[in-house]
Amino acid sequence: MSSNIRIVLIKTWHAGNIGATARAMKNMGLSELYLVDPVDFPSEEATSRAGQATDILQSAVVVPTLGAAIKDCALVIGTSARDRSIALPALTAEQCAEKAVLEQSKTPVALVFGRERMGLHNDEIQQCHFQVNIDANKEYPVLNLGQAVQILCYEIFKASQSQNTPKSIEEPYPLHEDLVRFQEHLEQTAYDIEFINRKHPGQTLDHLQALFRRARPTRKELSILRGFLNAAQKNHGKSD
Ligand code: SAH
Repeated sequence: MSSNIRIVLIKTWHAGNIGATARAMKNMGLSELYLVDPVDFPSEEATSRAGQATDILQSAVVVPTLGAAIKDCALVIGTSARDRSIALPALTAEQCAEKAVLEQSKTPVALVFGRERMGLHNDEIQQCHFQVNIDANKEYPVLNLGQAVQILCYEIFKASQSQNTPKSIEEPYPLHEDLVRFQEHLEQTAYDIEFINRKHPGQTLDHLQALFRRARPTRKELSILRGFLNAAQKNHGKSD
């Protein structure tokens, strides 16, 4: 079963949605639930909505930030109620499930769900590689949080049963925490070699970070990029 796929809920307001999520996950064979700064948890409401999935609530990991929930993941997919509301490559529910099932064989995968009212914040979106949007009535495409979780978990269940999904990817991708270290290194190098002025940084770095995240370098490529940055830092000022 797809035990390497985790569901991450960000700052959930209604405890009932946490219970419904646990049940949806267990029904569809998933077990890893991460709760980022939940408003009301543990709670009786969550327990009663979970049915026979209270074990998922008991083993849920509560963390303060999204970064902490995904640091060991190599694929992070954000969910969004609206098309194109996120500047990330978009996946349908089916494509999301296939990708998640394929990549979970090598490294943990995270599916990130936003707040009931506000969805995901920009700084959270920037930590995802892809967005998934469940196709729905254009006039009202916003699903209840627990039901959005249910649909994506069902797609994952179907994809993991399917013979069509290839067994594994060839090249592993870096973990979120390695990407964060690369982003810090890129930023430091940009200042060191005076590509960016600390006093007037502008948005160049944001664009560069988005470019690298979108490109999804493999582990090997990321290590080459780190070597490139090291050399640029070391040799800065030598050539002129
Ligand atoms: N106004 C918010 C609505 C949030 S709904 C927004 O536009 O994002 C709460 C959460 O349910 C969302 O953050 C997302 O995780 C999930 N969700 C709701 N409808 C969805 C849909 N059509 N596709 C994918 N996720 C959806």
